[in-house]
Amino acid sequence: MNAPHSLPVVVVGAGPTGLAAAAHLHERGLPFVVLEAGDTPGAAVAKWGHVRVFSPWRYNIDPAARRMLDDAGWVAPDPEALPTGAELVRAYLRPLAELPPLTPHVRYGARVQAISRLGLDRLRTAGRDTTPFLVRLADGDELLARAVIDASGTWGTPNVLGASGLPARGETDVAAYLEHALPDVLGADRDRFAGRHTLVVGAGHSAANTLLSLAELAAAEPGTEVTWAIRTASPARTYGGGDADALPARGALGARLRAHVDAGRVRLLTGFWVHALTPVDGRVRVVVRHADGGEESVLVDRVVAATGFRPDHSITAELRLDLDPVLGATRALAPLIDPNEHSCGTVPPHGVDELSHPEVGYYAVGMKSYGRAPTFLMATGYEQVRSVVAALAGDWAAARDVRLDLPETGVCSSNAADPVSGDSCCGPTPVAEPAGRGLATGVSGGLLSLVAVDTASAGGCCAS
Ligand SMILES: Cc1cc2nc3c(=O)[nH]c(=O)nc-3n(C[C@H](O)[C@H](O)[C@H](O)COP(=O)(O)OP(=O)(O)OC[C@H]3O[C@@H](n4cnc5c(N)ncnc54)[C@H](O)[C@@H]3O)c2cc1C
Repeated sequence: MNAPHSLPVVVVGAGPTGLAAAAHLHERGLPFVVLEAGDTPGAAVAKWGHVRVFSPWRYNIDPAARRMLDDAGWVAPDPEALPTGAELVRAYLRPLAELPPLTPHVRYGARVQAISRLGLDRLRTAGRDTTPFLVRLADGDELLARAVIDASGTWGTPNVLGASGLPARGETDVAAYLEHALPDVLGADRDRFAGRHTLVVGAGHSAANTLLSLAELAAAEPGTEVTWAIRTASPARTYGGGDADALPARGALGARLRAHVDAGRVRLLTGFWVHALTPVDGRVRVVVRHADGGEESVLVDRVVAATGFRPDHSITAELRLDLDPVLGATRALAPLIDPNEHSCGTVPPHGVDELSHPEVGYYAVGMKSYGRAPTFLMATGYEQVRSVVAALAGDWAAARDVRLDLPETGVCSSNAADPVSGDSCCGPTPVAEPAGRGLATGVSGGLLSLVAVDTASAGGCCAS
């Protein structure tokens, strides 16, 4: 933070959080550069453009960005509407990135490969805090920065299929048969699934929604087969509460999936630990090892890995980070976001203090700040960058005055916590029962609104 103030703050990533950081930096009059690996603003969001989010527009727009857009005559979307990823980009992120005060400072096709301190490897301490950051791009270009706000998300580093957290044997050899989470089964990616046998691995709502799309495809395209594999012995968590679920749409999602499984349209394999994958005559054999050591295999055409995401800490290997050993978030933030304790709406306000590392001036924000916790909300990221940028501007009073208006008390108020179960609409309220908490906002665990949106029955934050 003390590196020469004439240098820009480098923001990594032009997603919702990175662009919000840019808006705050502009408002504070701090020079900045946004480095985005993709060719467009919201490049990661665009990848799940066919998915409808569950938080309405009023939670998805950063206040500083909103002020800038309003000044430019922007027509805001209906605050209560639920945008798709594509709509988030088209109606918000792109107009924001194209505002004259921001656009000259956003570089596309600029993938950050590594971040260090100029002339100092991780071992060197003397003068470290006042030494500029060195940011190296994949094309070899290098920039100096007074601080780095790393908003690079986690979309680019999905979890592996291997049950132990390591790639399954042969996983890299069958890359051509593997699908990233949330393929657009009924849209752009239809041809890869029609008339084929697909294995979906994962127990979250992303898996559920992909399975529902595949079941719909199977009804229209003869020869389409669907198999669903989960590590646990029971799909109860994915099914949710059915008719008794606090959220009608959540219950409906699980109930629809259960109906497909019960009718045999989706074949369910439980206790399924992916052990090895082998290409066989244009298909892929997936070998499963059970807890008791027994093995079985399934032969399929495609495998959808709906197994969540992890942050890429490799770009910061030369920085002094203090990471929670479980989540990979800062140690101060980890207990506040532990998915065993918190749902998306029960995360306490947090800012620069919780996001600070021993490496002064480096902050991971947004989805990346949560490490492997799947409960991040855009609104949380917006407050993070407001606080971090205030600190960079020396306004510590504002930096420490952190507030959060999350769906649990906002969106969720239209579907308040169930008085009997204690569950809120963003996920179970963190009380007695530890299992199955932390309804994910992302694809690994609990997004409820991914496809086949039934807006008529949408009941609140997580229901769409
Ligand atoms: C399917 C889905 C649905 C979701 N629904 C909701 C919801 O309803 N409500 C909600 O609040 N949140 C939701 N989330 C969670 C979260 O808010 C989003 O993932 C959001 O996009 C996170 O924003 P971000 O800016 O932190 O990261 P991202 O949107 O992932 O942006 C990161 C950017 O950094 C770029 N990048 C990555 N690596 C580099 C690099 N090395 N160098 C340069 N650039 C790089 C990427 O190209 C990308 O543009 C959802 C997430 C998913 C996946």
